[in-house]
Amino acid sequence: MSKYWSNFVASLDPYTPGEQPAINNLTKLNTNENPYGPSPKVLQAMEDAVNGDLRLYPPPNADQLKQTIADYYQLNTDQIFVGNGSDEVLAHVFNALFRQTQGILFPDISYSFYPVYCGLYAIQYSQVPLADDFSLDLDKYCRPNGGIIFPNPNAPTGRLLALDAIEKLLQSNRDSVVVVDEAYIDFADSGSSAVALVNQYDNLLVVQTMSKSRSLAGLRIGYAMGSAELIEGLERVKNSFNSYPLGHVQIAAGVAAFKDNQYFEETRQLVINSRVQLTQQLKAMGFEILPSAANFVFVRHCDFSAEDLAQSLRDKNIIVRHFNKPRINEFLRITVGSEEQNQLLIDSLSAIFEG
Ligand SMILES: *Cc1c(COP(=O)(O)O)cnc(C)c1O
Repeated sequence: MSKYWSNFVASLDPYTPGEQPAINNLTKLNTNENPYGPSPKVLQAMEDAVNGDLRLYPPPNADQLKQTIADYYQLNTDQIFVGNGSDEVLAHVFNALFRQTQGILFPDISYSFYPVYCGLYAIQYSQVPLADDFSLDLDKYCRPNGGIIFPNPNAPTGRLLALDAIEKLLQSNRDSVVVVDEAYIDFADSGSSAVALVNQYDNLLVVQTMSKSRSLAGLRIGYAMGSAELIEGLERVKNSFNSYPLGHVQIAAGVAAFKDNQYFEETRQLVINSRVQLTQQLKAMGFEILPSAANFVFVRHCDFSAEDLAQSLRDKNIIVRHFNKPRINEFLRITVGSEEQNQLLIDSLSAIFEG
């Protein structure tokens, strides 16, 4: 509290990011980072971009990156918006599209940044309960609203909603914007992305990030795809805030990441394979695991409290995420790591269980 803060600033309840401790030998399975580094071609493109041109402002619309993403998804460049991480893209989405007279809807168990943006932009919201199996119950979204947003696969559950269910929602919800936050979609089966529906539904916005499947969390690149009119709304807000959210080096890296499709496919498949293996191993140890289409698993154990397990793992230098929230406080969210990291996790859990 400071006397220099406005009442509004004092009322904010900011997001708490998963910690990034500066400890050596830490097995970090708490923030869904990719265990594999970025493509070597991305690193090379970044090195090449470190030159005297950095005295110049970057292209304000990151045209080359927009073109690359448009080509990749077979869209037009006026259907692409880019920003400094998808968190920034989402902030602009809430500001540009969700400040309506009616409140917005999102799941009760979901990305915990959504209520924070609502606080920042004074947006009313209702949290719609997930079904008992933690799947999204879309019938409950059939009511007047100022917008709908959900992650798919959902975070922190990892559960995927099928494309035909999303299309049904779009058909029954024509008058407000539906945002699908696809931070983890590349870890689901190909063909799961709502990008396929962008040309048919002008109220659909799909948000993705290069942080997870493209191993660039440290660089901050996110993007949104939707109708030209939604994108123009986002551009209006962005150009009222910061015209240059992406620098030369970021743009070069983003372009190179999309062009190295082979590396992307290989590392994506490694993570998916590890998820399948980790799921089997955890099941064999008595964990209940929600079906995951993401690069993390959401698990609980009937004999051990999640909070205690998180602490015992931390004592062994492994960090996982525990949310002290209703309905999910018995769960741990564990990022799929490299094969060695996953094995270390399993070995450490065995040691903890043997006491
Ligand atoms: C990680 C994540 C984001 C944010 O990604 P950045 O691009 O790194 O800002 C957005 N939404 C969900 C659901 C996420 O898990």
